[in-house]
Formats: sequence, C-alpha cells, structure tokens
Amino acid sequence: MVRASVVIVGAGISGLSAAWELSGAIAGPNENTPRIEVIESASRVGGALATTSFAGRSVDLGADGFLARRPEAVNLVRELGLDDQLEAIDASGAWIYLHGALRELPTGLVLGVPTNVAAFRHFKGISRGARWRLRRDQWFAKRLVVGEDASIGEIVRAKLGDELSYQFIEPMIGGIQAGRIDELSARSVFPALLDAAHRGGSLAKALRPSGPVSPGPVSQHVASVPMFSSLCDGVGSLPVELERQLKERGVVVRTGVGVSALRRTPSGTYPWEVDTPTTTTPADAVIMAAPANVAGRLLGAQDPALAALADVDFASASMVTFCLSSTEVTLPLHGTGVLVPLRTSWPGGDTMMVTALTLLDRKWPHLRREGDVLLRAHVGRIDDQRSDSLNDEELTERVSNELRVLLGEFGPARASLVQRWPSALPQYHVGHQPLVEQARRAASELRVALAGMAYDGVGIPASIGSGRRAAKEVFAMLV
Ligand SMILES: Cc1cc2nc3c(=O)[nH]c(=O)nc-3n(C[C@H](O)[C@H](O)[C@H](O)COP(=O)(O)OP(=O)(O)OC[C@H]3O[C@@H](n4cnc5c(N)ncnc54)[C@H](O)[C@@H]3O)c2cc1C
Repeated sequence: MVRASVVIVGAGISGLSAAWELSGAIAGPNENTPRIEVIESASRVGGALATTSFAGRSVDLGADGFLARRPEAVNLVRELGLDDQLEAIDASGAWIYLHGALRELPTGLVLGVPTNVAAFRHFKGISRGARWRLRRDQWFAKRLVVGEDASIGEIVRAKLGDELSYQFIEPMIGGIQAGRIDELSARSVFPALLDAAHRGGSLAKALRPSGPVSPGPVSQHVASVPMFSSLCDGVGSLPVELERQLKERGVVVRTGVGVSALRRTPSGTYPWEVDTPTTTTPADAVIMAAPANVAGRLLGAQDPALAALADVDFASASMVTFCLSSTEVTLPLHGTGVLVPLRTSWPGGDTMMVTALTLLDRKWPHLRREGDVLLRAHVGRIDDQRSDSLNDEELTERVSNELRVLLGEFGPARASLVQRWPSALPQYHVGHQPLVEQARRAASELRVALAGMAYDGVGIPASIGSGRRAAKEVFAMLV
C-alpha cells in the first residue's frame, strides 16, 4: 500500500502539534500513518517559543508560560512524558502604573473588566466619574444594541466609559495581542463579553462567575489546577523535545528552508507539489501552519477567501530582559508585574513605550538565583512601532529610563537582552471569524488545513489545539 504524504508548512508549536497528532499522538505511528514532512524557514523549530541562556539560566525569549486551565498544553506536555518538568506559577496579583504611582490591581478583574465593585472602594487610581460608571453598571446598566460582532472597545466604552476601558481593559486585553480594544473583535477575543452585551444588563454581574472568558475548552477539576504553568527548562524546551520525538518516529523535520510555492498538479497522483528553493515534495494534503499572511501569499491564487488571509494585520513586539542586583532595585512586594496604560506620559517628553513589566523570577521558580532579579519589559503595539527606529543599545537605554520612572532608581544591569518579534502577533479585528471560516472552507476543498495563532486564538494552548484540529481534518480528507 502506498503511504499518503502530508507536508506541514511551519514548525511553530501549531505545526509540530499537527505532526504529533498525525503521527499517532501518544499511541505512536501505525500502518495508516502518512509520510510526514515538516518544513520550517527558520534555522530552528518553535517559532514564538524559544529559550536562550541568559545570566546563567534558560530564559524564554518569547512566550514564558501558558494558561494551564485549558487542557491542550498540559496534555501535550504529559503525552511527551514531560510531567516532571511542569512548573506552576508562583505569584499572583499585579500592579498598574496610574497617575504617577504604582497601584495594586483590585481583585475580580476579568480580562480587565471589573466584576467586584467593592474591591474598587479603596482603589485610589480612578476618578469619581469612573466610580459612578461602575455603580451605574451594577444597578442601571446602559442598554446597548450590538450585532454579531463588535469591537471590545465599543462594548466596554458604552457600558463602563473611556477611563475604565483604556486604563484597565486595554492594558490587559491589548497586551495579549499587542492590539487596541477599539479594533479587536469581541466575538473572537472575548466572546463572554459579547454574550453579556447581547443579554443586556450589568457587565460586572454577567462576567462574575469565573467561567471561561477566552474562547476554548476548560480543564476538568479547574479549582485544583494552577492558572498558569511553565516548564523547568522554559517553554522553549517544548518544541525542541517535540522535534526530537517526531524525528524518532520517522517524521522528516527540515529547518532553514522556507516553502516558496505550493503548486496544484494538473493530473498527477498527488494534488500538491510543495516547493522550497532546492526541493519539491509531492503531497496528498498540506497543513499550512505558517503565519496567515504567508498562507495568503502561498495559497491566495487558488481562491479569494485564501487571498484574504494576506490582509490579516500583524503587530510587532519587543522584549527587553534585565538581570539586576536584588539589593539595588526596589520591586513591588508581591505580584507578577506591572501594567502601563497606553499614552502614559513620562518625563522624557512623549509617552511611555513600555506596556508591561514582568517579574520573571517571581513567576517562575526555575529562574530564581540568590542575589539577583530578572525583569522583562514589553514594548510595542499595532499602532506603536517606535522601537523599530531604535537600535538595541538605544532601546535598552530608553526602556531602562522608563523603568526608573516606574520603580525608582536602580543600579546598572548585570546583563540585558533585546529580543524583537517582528510581525509576530495576528490582530483579530472585527469580522475576523467569518474571514477564517471562509478561508477554512476554501482550503478544505483543496485538501489544505489551516493551523496557527491567527485562526483559533493567540496563546500556546490554542495553537496546540489548532494544530491537532488541522491534523484531524487531514485524516478526514485522506479517507
Ligand atoms: C512575543 C510573544 C509573546 C507571547 N507570549 C505568550 C505567553 O506568555 N503565553 C502564551 O500562551 N502565548 C504567548 N504568545 C503566543 C504564542 O507564542 C503563540 O500562540 C504560538 O507560539 C503560535 O504558534 P504558531 O505555530 O501558530 O506560530 P509561530 O510560532 O509564528 O510559527 C509559525 C512558523 O512558520 C514559519 N514559517 C513562516 N514562513 C514560512 C515558510 N514560507 N515556510 C516554512 N515555514 C515558515 C515561521 O518561521 C514559524 O516558525 C506569545 C507570542 C509572542 C509573539
């Protein structure tokens, strides 16, 4: 019997998860397992998951942890036999920089939306008008008519006003995708908010039960599961181990060579030929796990719904990581970090570029060392690409100066590292879901499955789920 051939374009976590599922997942390959070739343009697998050695430890350069209350990432870690590597987050709570001071975030925020009005009673960072809006939402909620989709901003600004929307909700939701609440789709990014708007009444009351707020499944026994987890060698170790085990079971993983074209074969045995600059691989089906704009470019000629993928916007982000002497910096006593609302002014003249500060070794025990602390500043939004015009040295200096405003003076860094993520975060604008549905329909007619963070949600669990879903679609295509 001739084995079917499947090519996977892109070896980020979604492409590798697709290969894992296609090659039999935990049970391993069997006589029906297709020949699988994963083609990755970068010199390493993992995409947005990568670790490096920094200040004597393995530090993640991109994603540093994952939501553990969704099952996909934890399940994959367990299937790979890495259970003993799982590490629960070791801090909770966070701070926000408002009106020139760090303030502890009130409890009960659901993606920034206040659900516990009493927690705001002693919170000093908001105006009387914003307090009144909070109370009004509880007792005389504003009516709002929304259609099948609306921007998150449209809903929360109408219900809670601009101040709470831009100072609490935007830093939290916008931070996940480096996007703006006035453009991000409630249907795709925060469906519980859209449901609440459709039902009418108080947002605080509607969102209060701590059910799932982002799209996706929830683990069983949620209460006993930590909210976030990482791996002792960093989440970047996950794709590396996945690649190793995939190769062991005969999957071909090629790095450092990009797919340059996908060609339909006119009458051949295989519907596709997948080109790189040096090779052509015949394929019965293709899993497109490269970013949506690449998918649009490679597949756009086949169907306008696929060409539309090239229009998905991507935001760039940068991270600057510092190792500081623990005796030479004053950090908030507890919590995982600090949020900085957009347009926060600072003495440098314009507005702050830093959107968040993560206290990395607070969150993850494997990063702790006696005598130092690891901080990471996040920079960049879809409409703030100022960091592009600064070289690494200039960016580090600018970010250090902003951190001195947030934290007060601190001594010279023992080490620092700039990591840039150009065009890395897809923007789920209003109308994103129909765009994805149409593209998926067109792709499946052509024996192509789409996987990745532009389709089923940004985040490691969603991307793993997206890859595995694409593999199941391909199984169905090959029957
Ligand atoms: C800076 C940053 C921080 C993040 N932080 C978190 C976090 O803390 N927690 C969390 O859960 N999620 C986080 N995320 C999101 C999470 O990392 C992603 O959801 C996930 O890694 C996406 O995986 P992917 O495979 O869909 O895409 P990618 O990782 O983008 O992989 C796509 C791959 O396709 C390859 N490719 C592109 N063109 C071609 C071509 N022509 N041929 C072959 N290959 C090609 C790329 O090189 C890349 O390796 C973060 C993302 C970023 C960018």
